Amino acid sequence: MRIALIAHDKKKPEMIDFAYENRHFLQKHQLFATGTTGKMVMEKTGLPIHCFKSGPLGGDQEIGAQVAKGEIDLVFFFRDPLTAQPHEPDISALLRLCDVYEIPLATNRNTAKMMIKSEVKKC
Ligand code: PGA
Repeated sequence: MRIALIAHDKKKPEMIDFAYENRHFLQKHQLFATGTTGKMVMEKTGLPIHCFKSGPLGGDQEIGAQVAKGEIDLVFFFRDPLTAQPHEPDISALLRLCDVYEIPLATNRNTAKMMIKSEVKKC
């Protein structure tokens, strides 16, 4: 599968822990991420990740374009609903595209865990 990882600043430590805990699952897949999330996760886990631009500079839109082209199968987007994000329109656009194309998307860690559990069972 082609999996995209995105985490807002306050959720980046959670994303790093999540990726580390699930590194054996993630290493079997092709990984993409917004710039800062991808860089931090790569540093801590050693997983190879294709990094797009940072979210505020267009990374969310780049991932949205991948979704529209049918090139992403699953999105882990750990959102911080308590902090205003300057690129909120891009975030809403990405969420919208995932619904348009029915791409599974987890917006928090526990949903992401359940998705991985259900994928592991299928294998
Ligand atoms: P970042 O972008 O990984 O480059 O910080 C994520 C976002 O803010 O949407």
